[in-house]
Amino acid sequence: MTAGQQAPEKMIFQLTLRRRGVSDQAVLRSMEQVPREEFVQAADRDDAYRDGALSIDCGQTISQPFVVAYMTEQLRLQKHHRVLEIGTGSGYQAAILSRLSRQVVTIERYRTLADNARARLAKLGYDNVEVILGDGFDVPASAGTFDRIIVTAAMEQIPDALAERLEPGGILIAPVGPHHGVQTLVRLTRTDTGFDQKELVDVRFVPALPGIAREL
Ligand code: SAH
Repeated sequence: MTAGQQAPEKMIFQLTLRRRGVSDQAVLRSMEQVPREEFVQAADRDDAYRDGALSIDCGQTISQPFVVAYMTEQLRLQKHHRVLEIGTGSGYQAAILSRLSRQVVTIERYRTLADNARARLAKLGYDNVEVILGDGFDVPASAGTFDRIIVTAAMEQIPDALAERLEPGGILIAPVGPHHGVQTLVRLTRTDTGFDQKELVDVRFVPALPGIAREL
């Protein structure tokens, strides 16, 4: 596909995000710059800029672009932030975050997905992203604390141990609800005395499951 053919598709992509209410210029720029076609399966490349979720390896999905942009906007990222993502999947959300922050640590429970995302992000030059094979319900203590945490798999509730990883003033966003059904995007903000919680919009994510996957 030539650049000339791709342009209108990317223009519509940007317009769709704006029409749906994404207005943060830095987030829109990041969505414009990260090549989503590199993160989807080869057979889906022509659909990379449609506003829909797509299947990736291990029965997982790359999220719908609007949801990626919306969650990123709600994180209110600053350039100096250190960010934790749970659920690397294709690495697309991590790439978007990496343009807007200092460092991204992303955890994935499938070795195939973690290895592929690590290689893809390195090849594309997103060198401030660290991909870890691990369990987001059991983040290694050595990972430290974070200014922002984004969970991209559905949790029945937000584990206290995860919220405790937030720096004061930090923000965590996660889809919370039943594994198979509609979840609500929840935003937790760490205050001096505890946590403020706000419910944002309804979403559908694949479930967060405990432990490193036994299958590859
Ligand atoms: N953010 C991804 C899409 C996430 S799909 C992207 O941009 O492509 C959700 C991912 O969360 C899946 O890859 C799934 O394997 C992973 N996941 C589920 N439970 C997990 C856990 N406990 N720890 C780490 N990753 C988990």
